[in-house]
Amino acid sequence: MGGALACRLARAGLSVAVVDRAALPPMEHPNFDGRAYAIAAGSRALLEEAGIWDKLPHAPGPIAQIRVSDGKPGRPASRLFLHFDATELGAGPGHGGALGWMVEARNMRMALNACLHAAPGLKLYAPAVAEVTRTASGARIWLDSGEDFPARLVVAAEGRDSPLRRQAGLTAARWAYAQAGIVCAISHTRPHDNTALEHFLPAGPFAQLPMAASEAGEHISAIVWTERRDAAPRLMALDDSAFTAEVQTRLGDHLGAIRLVGQRWMYPLSAMYVHRVTAERLAVVGDAAHGIHPIAGQGLNLGLRDSIALSHLLIAAKAAGEDPGGPALLARYARARRLDNLSMLVATDGLDRLFSTDNPVVRAARDIGIAAVHRMPGLKRAFMRQAMGIG
Ligand SMILES: Cc1cc2nc3c(=O)[nH]c(=O)nc-3n(C[C@H](O)[C@H](O)[C@H](O)COP(=O)(O)OP(=O)(O)OC[C@H]3O[C@@H](n4cnc5c(N)ncnc54)[C@H](O)[C@@H]3O)c2cc1C
Repeated sequence: MGGALACRLARAGLSVAVVDRAALPPMEHPNFDGRAYAIAAGSRALLEEAGIWDKLPHAPGPIAQIRVSDGKPGRPASRLFLHFDATELGAGPGHGGALGWMVEARNMRMALNACLHAAPGLKLYAPAVAEVTRTASGARIWLDSGEDFPARLVVAAEGRDSPLRRQAGLTAARWAYAQAGIVCAISHTRPHDNTALEHFLPAGPFAQLPMAASEAGEHISAIVWTERRDAAPRLMALDDSAFTAEVQTRLGDHLGAIRLVGQRWMYPLSAMYVHRVTAERLAVVGDAAHGIHPIAGQGLNLGLRDSIALSHLLIAAKAAGEDPGGPALLARYARARRLDNLSMLVATDGLDRLFSTDNPVVRAARDIGIAAVHRMPGLKRAFMRQAMGIG
């Protein structure tokens, strides 16, 4: 996140330094490791402006349609479902004919690293550890190499456990879900037709997301599967054929025979609300500023929207000769992000509670809701635009 923001700002002529405690090249895994991001249309704009999109080594896979259904593992999906189609949005601006794009995490890292090395006026310190001092008149960055330099604004983008956020005394409310996310990729014998599936199961949502074909021409999809936290380690410990059979049970057979590609990953799921995302000469972005349930694949997109808001403010401040770390600009950033951050947290938390249940009353009520949304094209389009970050 910090890297994408830095590239965007450097391309606009701002002087930027990036400090990452990890060295960058080891993050470029030589083979596909099974992880991918769903990038919404609104987020793509920042990646384009930062020069990252054009440097992706392989074309991302478009998501043209999303099918949402309700069911139980091993049983056919409920007849009640929602079907979102990019063509329903017409030729309007901002979506390029797709609801979003699937980008391999490895490709994103390679493109980001290339931009970080090429961006004019961007200084890169990685691996490096920084101590930061902030006062009303400015900040100073002290590196473990002994080097130090001044800054007008410090951006905290170190993920959920951000040391800069904690040092600034910015408090966060956290809660853990009784769920874990299992992430992997599969190849399948039938094409996915650029269609994603979100299948709501009692333990949590199971998503299949269409990816670009492999170099060998195989049809590939990413799987993001939410399971009960106590059941997930047992599933992760299964051998490949037993694990693949569990995936197939939940996915159904519409994609034909499936095979696991790359590794499988497991993440305990939690949410986090940060009460204030600014302090003296400090702005907090990305997972350092919020944590949400991956039910809608929006975590990275929400962080990219922080970066879009902050970059617009900083580029305008440069043009106006305004202090980029002054209280007025920071107040504008906090105001710009408050509603989106809070509403995404509430929406993803609510969706998980509503769908991750086997309670027959709740199931009946949500099926009626799904059917109603299906019959209201205006509401459906509003949902689509929101999920795409162009609402
Ligand atoms: C199961 C699962 C599936 C997901 N799927 C999606 C999806 O499909 N789409 C989507 O949009 N999002 C998805 N997400 C969310 C997404 O992965 C995160 O929101 C995103 O990675 C956050 O990016 P970030 O840059 O803010 O933080 P991180 O990715 O945590 O990056 C933090 C960076 O800071 C560096 N760092 C850490 N500490 C320090 C320090 N002290 N000093 C210097 N540098 C430091 C690290 O080396 C790293 O480079 C998913 C999450 C989960 C758990």
